[in-house]
Amino acid sequence: MAATHIGHCQICLRVCKLPGGLVARHGYRRPRWGHEVGHCLGGACLPWEGSCERAVWYLERLSTYLASDRVVLAKYESGEVDTLYRKSRVTGQQMLITKEDPTWELTLRETIRGVQYQITDIDRAGKALTVRIAAWKPGEPQVVHGIAV
Ligand SMILES: [Zn+2]
Repeated sequence: MAATHIGHCQICLRVCKLPGGLVARHGYRRPRWGHEVGHCLGGACLPWEGSCERAVWYLERLSTYLASDRVVLAKYESGEVDTLYRKSRVTGQQMLITKEDPTWELTLRETIRGVQYQITDIDRAGKALTVRIAAWKPGEPQVVHGIAV
């Protein structure tokens, strides 16, 4: 279906075509063989101009991720974890690391730092989204003139 309008994705704010009035599927990659990997969760939803419901849904999802990551971080910091995974710099494969491994302390520090970074990132995204949702007002998708989209 040809799109006659464009609007903003509620999740990533990308300007997208609106076939059938909904945000087109976007945010995916097509590695090598043409199949799609991943996609933005704002696809097939009303654009930001029409609703913020998907953004509210996503904010709740971020809260769940944040809570889960904080539980994981607490386990790492308390020493409850006996095994970790570390990506080999030689083979790129994931290697199982135990407390007896000489790289345990380094792997643990790097793992904790990674989770802390993820928590900071999710928290920042959630705060920005909260502000954006609070300021939401209905708008009009833009009509596309003269080009086929
Ligand atoms: Zn998006």
